Amino acid sequence: MHSSLPPPPPPPSAATPIRVVPDIPGRGRALVAARAIKPGEVLLTDSPLLLYPALDSADGSFSSSFCGHCYRTLAAGVPRSPLASVGALPLCPGCSGQVRFCGEPCRAMALLSSHTPWACRALSMIRSAGRLPPPLDGAEGRSQVAFLVAAYNLAAASPEDFRRLLSLQGDAGDHASPELPLALHSLMGSISPPLDPAGFSPELTAALLSKDRMNAFGLMEPAGVGSGGEVEKRVRAYGIYPNASLFNHDCLPNACRFDYVDGGSDRNTEIIVRAIHEIPEGRELCLSYFPVNWTFKERQKRLLEDYGFSCACDRCLVEKGWKEQDEEEEKEDHKVASMEDEEAEDDEDEGMEGVVEEGDGDFPHAYFFVRFMCQRENCGGTLAPLPPSPQGVTSGVMECNACGGLRKGDDPCDDGGGEDDGIVVDG
Ligand SMILES: [Zn+2]
Ligand SMILES: [Zn+2]
Ligand SMILES: [Zn+2]
Ligand SMILES: [Zn+2]
Repeated sequence: MHSSLPPPPPPPSAATPIRVVPDIPGRGRALVAARAIKPGEVLLTDSPLLLYPALDSADGSFSSSFCGHCYRTLAAGVPRSPLASVGALPLCPGCSGQVRFCGEPCRAMALLSSHTPWACRALSMIRSAGRLPPPLDGAEGRSQVAFLVAAYNLAAASPEDFRRLLSLQGDAGDHASPELPLALHSLMGSISPPLDPAGFSPELTAALLSKDRMNAFGLMEPAGVGSGGEVEKRVRAYGIYPNASLFNHDCLPNACRFDYVDGGSDRNTEIIVRAIHEIPEGRELCLSYFPVNWTFKERQKRLLEDYGFSCACDRCLVEKGWKEQDEEEEKEDHKVASMEDEEAEDDEDEGMEGVVEEGDGDFPHAYFFVRFMCQRENCGGTLAPLPPSPQGVTSGVMECNACGGLRKGDDPCDDGGGEDDGIVVDG
């Protein structure tokens, strides 16, 4: 994507808050605090190697509400019809009307990077083919096609970024079944990736798909509000962020990431990782790879299937004993079975309610949920303070990384959560 920008690994300097440790026993490579870190402090800012669109859940197509390059929301009221929109927003000359851009700079950048003539042709062919044959006919297959087009496009548009992509975690052998990777590979073969034929192999396609599964971050659509006041959120695009990928997972993370895709910056696709609370020097820095309110069972399932490990964090050790309760919940509603992709996470807020109730009194981490979980219904976001002032004063305002809501740090219940249980938190 931003292949014309230099890659931004954090340079080693006294001020850098992060240190890479090659091997923490039992954890592998890890990021640790190089010094004491303040609440809200920016740990990392990272640009994507590539971005690809999420599917519009309404009709399974790729949403045309966002810029085809930077994924900014396109101005409201711009007509969707290709003919009507000529003159309103710059279009791709190759697939007019299918891909639109927020402005001329994005179009010019896209034609050289994310939307080269090959990518344009590949996407047009897939679109005109209509429904893909099984096993690619589901949402997962279509989404992986979009990823592979972006990845193979990167191989030609920015070989250096493609090499970085290949250096990320995820191997060809990480698939439960070879069927889907093989089908995707043969589809890619039919649209002639811009790659040395000797390098184009089923193993490469399978490895790329694993890297996507283990490293992609979702950029959320602007949060809407449903009729019941609950937060409605969907992913607008996925991105591969090579530095942010180095964070290990913890079910009670001490850092979380923010994006501001609709912000004014021309680096709007960067993600920013901030400290949730104070972190002492030497402590490992972790993100949660999914909303923190998932149940033990949901978390273990996702981590095992998508990342290949069982989590033994402090929280999981405590919640292991609650397994029976989770299984009861699952019997009541069979939602867990549908937890196939990121979009499904929106429905899962009952886990947190269970945790908060259960935690009253005897769960040492209940504090986290009161202090650092967004209380808006259906949000599931994590809160971190806004960055400290240049003088190092911690902000009293907490920001939700999913719905973008702000609240005063010492009042966890002022935004409609309605769970005022009188727990006192320090500011
Ligand atoms: Zn744009
Ligand atoms: Zn095009
Ligand atoms: Zn865990
Ligand atoms: Zn929220």
